[in-house]
Formats: sequence, C-alpha cells, structure tokens
Amino acid sequence: MVAGSNPARGTNMLNLIIFGPPGSGKGTQAALIAKKYKLAHLSSGDILRQELKNGSLGASIKKYQETGRLVPDNIIIAMMEATAVRKLKTKGLVFDGYPRNLRQARQLDRFLKKQRTALTLVLNLKLSEQDAQKRIINRGKTSGRNDDNLKTIRTRFQIYRAQTEPILKYYQAQKKIIAVDGRPSIQKVTQNITDILKKQQSTDIKKGAKK
Ligand code: AMP
Repeated sequence: MVAGSNPARGTNMLNLIIFGPPGSGKGTQAALIAKKYKLAHLSSGDILRQELKNGSLGASIKKYQETGRLVPDNIIIAMMEATAVRKLKTKGLVFDGYPRNLRQARQLDRFLKKQRTALTLVLNLKLSEQDAQKRIINRGKTSGRNDDNLKTIRTRFQIYRAQTEPILKYYQAQKKIIAVDGRPSIQKVTQNITDILKKQQSTDIKKGAKK
C-alpha cells in the first residue's frame, strides 16, 4: 500500500450534506439522521464553538462567528478535515453547516476522493427566510448562542444567499441534490429524509446488480 493512502473502504460510506439556510433545521436533522444510521455528525458550527471555548484558535475565530461572517476557509477546512479523518471508519459522514462556499465544496470533493470515498447526496432543506428567522429568534431564547440575534441573523442570511446558496448549482451539475420541505414537524422531516435515503439505497442496489 502507498504510504498515506487508504484502503478502499470508502465506496460503501453514506456521506451526506444537510444543506439549508440558517434556521432551517440542519443541525437537528443532521443529528437525528446520524443517530438513526450510525453516521458521524460533523457540524462546523459546533466544532467552531468548541474551539472558541477551549481551542487555541478561539481569538481568530471569534470576530467572524459573533458577527455571522464566514470564518476564513483555511481555518475551517483544516478543522473539518482533521475531524473527518478521525471518523473515516464509521458508516458515513453527515456534514452540517459545511461546505458554505464554492471553495469549501470543491475542497470537500477533493478530500473525499483522496480518502477513496465520495459524497452520496445533498439534502436541501427548504424554508422561507421569514419562517427561518422566526425559528432562530425562538431558538435564541434558549440556545445561549451569541449569534442568534436579529442583527447577526441578517448578516447570516446575506452571506447564505451570496456565498452558500450558489453552491447548489455545483451539486446540481453532479445530480446529487434532493429538496426536502423544511416546514413540517421535526419528526415528519426526518421521516421524509429517511424515505429518500431508502429509495436511494434501493436504486444503488439495483445499479450494483446490473454491474
Ligand atoms: P452555524 O452553527 O452553522 O449556524 O454556524 C455559526 C457560525 O459559525 C457561522 O455564522 C459562521 O460564522 C461560522 N461557520 C460555521 N460553518 C462555517 C463554514 N463552513 N465556513 C465558515 N464559517 C462557518
């Protein structure tokens, strides 16, 4: 085996991105889906908040995170890859809050390829800005998050529209996106995602049988 390369472990991994605007329920759904399918949940926001509390990079991250701007790519990419590398023996990875721009998306594909695996699907949670804002304000009452306030929410939405939403085109070209209505209850959305994954698996099995 070539030094530093991985055995062909990854082809069977279920690697998902739970995509959507702030407040669409990404974090909640990513956690539930990860638990149900025994996948590793990689939340960039949680990883950053942890680093803010305990890590050496706290000072350089703080000013971005508390104003709702994106943390520089080199920092977030390194943190996500370091975390993902430790989870490669799991059945798959669920990315939540990552990637957030085209550069991160391209780098994620390169990273997964290097690990002999690939992205399976991007689940795009759809929710209007108005509904998402209402949820974030509500969440702010209990989350203790310093960025769940009106001013920061506006910046987070602007950045979502300008930098994050455009990467959907990148995944559309790869035919990897499936839209999920983000409006129903948490349980219903999880059920809909589960149904999508079941369908996807049966298509994969059929494809495999034809090979
Ligand atoms: P979240 O918990 O996903 O809403 O993220 C909270 C904040 O962390 C964001 O507003 C950004 O400041 C930062 N952040 C999270 N994920 C990323 C990312 N992929 N790239 C850059 N900054 C991020």
